[in-house]
Amino acid sequence: MIEAMYRCEICGEETQHPIRWFVINCGDSQLKIIRWSKEAADAPGARHYCGESHAQVYISRWFQTFCG
Ligand SMILES: [Zn+2]
Repeated sequence: MIEAMYRCEICGEETQHPIRWFVINCGDSQLKIIRWSKEAADAPGARHYCGESHAQVYISRWFQTFCG
């Protein structure tokens, strides 16, 4: 099985072995933060973040713009 490569949306870091990464799945009216799992990471609309601080960057933006 080929392992997928994941990329942090904030800093662009790429890895095949995301440790302590987070998945955020964002809809029009909700934002869901998910502890890393392959299932969540591969779900449609999933965004990937290399750590808590970069997930927070996105969350802060979302508060202001709603997925823009
Ligand atoms: Zn990052």
